[in-house]
Amino acid sequence: MKLIIHRGAKQIGGSCIEVSTERTRLILDVGAPLDDPAKLLERPKQKDERPKNLPPVPGLFDDGPRVDAVLLSHAHGDHTGLLPWVKPEIPVYLSKGTSQMLMAGSIFAGQPKLDRKRERILEPRKPTRIGDITITGLPVDHSAFDSMALLIEADGKRLLYSGDLRMHGRKRGMARALFQFIAKKPVDVLLMEGTNLSKEAQRSRWNGTEKELEEELLKAITRCYFPVLANFSPQHIDRFVSFYRATRRAGRVFVTDVYGAFVLHLVSDQCRIPKPTGRNGIRVYYNQSFEKTWRKKNLKKIHDMFLADRIDLPTILADPDRYVMLFRPSMLKLDFGGELPENTMCLYSMWPGYLAKPEYRALQTALKKGELSECHTSGHIFGDDLVEFVNAINPHQVVPVHTETPEIFQELFQNALLLSDGCPLII
Ligand SMILES: [Zn+2]
Repeated sequence: MKLIIHRGAKQIGGSCIEVSTERTRLILDVGAPLDDPAKLLERPKQKDERPKNLPPVPGLFDDGPRVDAVLLSHAHGDHTGLLPWVKPEIPVYLSKGTSQMLMAGSIFAGQPKLDRKRERILEPRKPTRIGDITITGLPVDHSAFDSMALLIEADGKRLLYSGDLRMHGRKRGMARALFQFIAKKPVDVLLMEGTNLSKEAQRSRWNGTEKELEEELLKAITRCYFPVLANFSPQHIDRFVSFYRATRRAGRVFVTDVYGAFVLHLVSDQCRIPKPTGRNGIRVYYNQSFEKTWRKKNLKKIHDMFLADRIDLPTILADPDRYVMLFRPSMLKLDFGGELPENTMCLYSMWPGYLAKPEYRALQTALKKGELSECHTSGHIFGDDLVEFVNAINPHQVVPVHTETPEIFQELFQNALLLSDGCPLII
């Protein structure tokens, strides 16, 4: 078995990894790079415009040797962003939840649409054969719903790709189930994400568990009698649960937008979060961006889905201490006319780097007479947990990926093997 990290050996995001045998070639993730947050804004203007930063993978984007499949670990742009440029005849293997999140993102967040015909759904822990390689998706806890680690077996060798994961979320049992599944046979190579190993990440104050975050949110909501806006990605289901639980415990109603309601509608049969109905303490606000575009985008079915539980902005603002409202910066201008009510509190619950984006600067200005409170915890594994994870897998070699500090693996593990982008390793 041959392993090549095409991109990601020394950077966070933009991951693209190849595992192959003599007969079969698989690509694990096709991510757009995150290295410069400003680049996130630089989406190609025309749909077909080719990005300049495609990793050099023969046959993936252009004619060349056959690529048998693309495998996606989860639905984040730094792992899926290059999908629009992958040759359309290559099938894409992914979890059901990843497929759902890509679909919701394409409808509501301008993310790439994946043609259903190309999708092959990976059932958790069920081995699937592609050529002479066997792949198995193993559920992991991350900020993207239904993320998977990928076990790749061929030529009598085993490689485990962690994808992005953490052990301080709501689903610690997932890691235990993964350890048990893996324990049957030794792993030759563990390709392990190390996002949070940098000194800067170690110093971050966002190092609590998801449950501790819920308590922090509850405290913030309870002390505020004014409008509380919740800013997080509706695709981060664990965070949705934290906000929902904190809101209900504070005796308030959670107001989601249609995007969030649609995501809840998709996943509520797969995890412990209720459907978006008034009975469950959730109301749906049809924001201006949706109101202006749903007809043009043929979204009548989604539009009508939540009408019974609809709530309007005057009702919310008349009784602000009864609600917590999902908010995105585009609503500042479109829904609030550029000005937020006095003493509004915005609970910001995403990667702090996004605060540098212009729409967040505008939000901070609008909150001059209010408060922006950062309440967050990382979607990535912390250093101590990483050591526990690697020791539990006990691989022959551990190869860092999705990290700016691969050398820290050498300090932590005697069997660390550092690769460079593009340099093959024969396993
Ligand atoms: Zn990532």
